[in-house]
Formats: sequence, C-alpha cells, structure tokens
Amino acid sequence: MPDNRRMFLAIDQGTTSSRAIVFDADGSVQAIGQCEFEQHFPAPGHVEHDPEEIVQSQQRAIADALRAAGDPQIVAAGITNQRETVVVFERATGRPIHRAIVWQDRRTAPDLARMADHAELVRARTGLSLDPYFSAKKIAWILDEVPGARARAERGELLAGTIDTWLLWHLTNGDTFATDPSNASRTCLFDLATGDWSDELCELFDVPRAMLPAILPTAGDFGTATAGWPLRAAVGDQQSALFGHGCVGLGDTKCTYGTGAFVLTNAGDTVPDPVPGVLATVAWQLGDVTTFAREGSVLVCGAAIQWLRDGLGVIADATATEQLARSVADSGGIVFVPAFAGLGTPHWDPTARGAILGLTRGTTDAHLVRAALEALALQIDDVLGAMGGTRSALRVDGGAAGNGLLLEIQAALLGVPVLRPAWLEATAFGAFRMALLGAGVHADPSTLPALPGESVEVAPPEGLDVEELRARWRKALPRAQNWA
Ligand code: ADP
Repeated sequence: MPDNRRMFLAIDQGTTSSRAIVFDADGSVQAIGQCEFEQHFPAPGHVEHDPEEIVQSQQRAIADALRAAGDPQIVAAGITNQRETVVVFERATGRPIHRAIVWQDRRTAPDLARMADHAELVRARTGLSLDPYFSAKKIAWILDEVPGARARAERGELLAGTIDTWLLWHLTNGDTFATDPSNASRTCLFDLATGDWSDELCELFDVPRAMLPAILPTAGDFGTATAGWPLRAAVGDQQSALFGHGCVGLGDTKCTYGTGAFVLTNAGDTVPDPVPGVLATVAWQLGDVTTFAREGSVLVCGAAIQWLRDGLGVIADATATEQLARSVADSGGIVFVPAFAGLGTPHWDPTARGAILGLTRGTTDAHLVRAALEALALQIDDVLGAMGGTRSALRVDGGAAGNGLLLEIQAALLGVPVLRPAWLEATAFGAFRMALLGAGVHADPSTLPALPGESVEVAPPEGLDVEELRARWRKALPRAQNWA
C-alpha cells in the first residue's frame, strides 16, 4: 500500500501572491495555501516588492498548505518563481539593502538606451533583448543608487539574486546560495552557449560576478529547508508552466495568461537560432542536458484587466469581464493597446504607452472590456506570428485563461486547437514535476504525472472577422509607440 503521508510541495512565488501546493506522488492536489503581498509603485514606471514580505508571505502560504494537508511528510519541494526580479542583500545578515526591483519595472530604460551599440552582442550571448525587463541593469541600479553599495559589493559583502535565489537562501537559513539556468538565463549575464555567467557581460552591465550565485541543474540538490524537507528543484515560472503542461517535445507550445502573458515553445537541446524580436532562453537543465525555449513576452495581459477594475472601476472583479464583453457583438470599432509598460515581443519598445482609439459617443464600458480581451488575444497572435513555424496546438493556463471569450477569440486568430486543462495551475505543477525528478522519484520526464483532469479544446466563436480585427490592431499599434 502506498504511504499516503509522503507528499510533495510546490512553492510558487508569483508577482502578486505567494502560493504553496501540496501534491501526492500521483499529482493529485492535497491542499493549497495562498498569501497576497503588496505592490509598491514609488514613481511612474517603477515597480517594487518588499523582499522580506515575499519571504513571510511564502512561509505563511507554505504553513497554511501543510496544515490543511494534515502536516504530511514532505519528500521533496520545488520552487518556481517570478523571474527577472532582483534582490541585493547582505551576505552576513541576509538583509536586503533595497526593495526588490520587479520585472515590470522600467527605470533602467535610459541606461539601456545608452548601451544600444551592444544590443547585438547581448542578443548573441544571452538570447535576450536590451530591455529594462531583464535583471542585470536593475542590480547595477541598486549598487549605484544605495550609498556605499558598489564599494560593499566589490568587497564581497553583498550578494545579488533572482527570487529563487532569495527564497533558497532564506528557506535554508543562508546555506544555499544558488540559482538554476532557467532563472539565470533571464538576467542578461548568462551565456547560453557556455551555460555559465559571462565575465564580458558582467563588465558590460557593471555587475561584479562575485555577487552572483552558483548555477545548479534545474532538478537536483538545492539543500534542505530549516523545516527539514529537501529542496530538489528551482525553475522560473514560465519554464515551469512549459514543463507542467508536459511540453517536453520539440515545438510543444504553451501560453500563460497572468499579469503578463508568456508564450514558450520547446526549442530542443541546442541554442536556438535568433528570430527577430523573439527571445531565446533556457527551458531547464536536467543532468548535463540543457533544453532551450523560444519565448515571446507580453508585458501587460491580466494587468490590463486589473486596471479596468482598479484604475477605472468599470468592473467589480476580473471574472465580470466575460459576461460584460459577451453583451456586445464587437468592440464597436475601438482598439485598446495596453502598452502601460511599453511593448515586449516582437516590438521591444519601452517608450510605447497605453492607448484607446476610435472612441465615439456610442462607446460603452462593454465595448472597452471587449476591446481589452481582443487586445490580449491579438498580442499573443503577434507573438506567435513573430515566432514563425507551425504548431499543432496551444496549451493555455494562468488566471486570465479562465476567460472563455478570450480563449475563443484566441482560437479564431490562431487557427489551431487551444487546449485548456481542467486545472490551470500549470506553473506550480511544473515545479512539482521537477521536484519528482530532483528527488529521484522519477528518472525521466516521460513517466511523470500529467496535469489533473481532461483538457478542453476551445472552439472559435461564430462569425468573428479575424482579418478586420488584425487590420484595426495593426493600425492602432504605431499610434501607441514612440510615446514616452
Ligand atoms: P500572476 O501569477 O501573474 O500573479 P495569475 O495567473 O494569478 O497571475 O492571473 C491573475 C491575472 O489574471 C490578473 O491580472 C487578473 O486580472 C487576470 N484574470 C483573472 N481572472 C480573469 C478573467 N476571468 N478574465 C480576465 N482576466 C482575468
């Protein structure tokens, strides 16, 4: 008889909340803990998190989940986390010297504009664009803005890490100072070809290499939490979702519709050839085999829905968008470009800003909400267009994938099956699957459990003129660009 007290823990540190999910060995969910934390917007375009609050909220979520599961024995835990967000902290105390600078933060745009000559080099080494989204310049910004920090970093007193590193350090009380390639490849400091930090890039971005953590395989030994359980995986949230969906074959593709939206395609075991506007990144490293992914990043997805709720007050909660948008046949000719934080793939324009075009006296809140949902689908359509190639299906997850109309519009635009799993937590599921490998419970991804429940294939809506939708969107985009 299986010992049903032996459980696995997925630690899912997201942009707006920290979550913890307890699974049994077959992947059935035993308990979930969740704790939201505060978003800080100290200046236009600046987004920060309190790193201590991230740890506390994560620990609370873990404690809640473990209690709800009846305090089982945890065989292994896997961490998945918001990527690119950085913390600079004291080696001696583990205390941060500044709030975490979040992936959405745009403050380093002027510094990066001055580095434009190096864009080709950065792209060739890292697979990334020279955009404020990535970590390196955020670390340099903290070192230059906090008095004395750069000198302290040179003396080896300060450490820098993405959120996986920050959590690993605190969960192990400073024993583990590490990251994995899926997270490291989002910093602009990691060389895809060598699989290591690059001295050349550290110099270019003004980040002392000695501050950076050890890079360990995605599934494996990350130490032991002070609570006693083994930490056996660390993986960036989007790569985790790719793994959670079981996208382990070449060309397998998923889209996560969260605060931002992220399309990842499994690109196999060699560094992908560059495609204009599309990122190349590490999907994961298992043993000494690295798998790569092509990625399209849309900076604002569900965040546009949050803005409709909190900024404008046109809806009471995100789920109300579907009914309201279905109450009209179309968006009444308006286009909403949600470029609040610039545009990501394929435009990479940090100066773009949000725009609503085509307003008339007949425009209603329903038109606006429908235009927002259309925009979320159109952004993904652009990403897949830029990626090129063909695919047999798009697997979807994330909070906004709960919106049936959004997925229907997406299916109409893409013309391939959009597959929605019964349970949308693919990100946490990926960390669970990685932990099973890291703990040696499974030796190979092919035997790992799949997401619970049956996937549904979303049907496109009747009579939607996708060419007209695309044409209007393409007319609107340039009007939102080159603004700030
Ligand atoms: P994250 O992990 O980035 O914090 P989630 O995957 O939890 O995000 O998704 C939350 C986002 O999804 C929010 O921005 C919210 O506005 C949006 N969202 C949630 N439900 C819906 C819905 N039914 N329709 C549209 N957007 C939604």
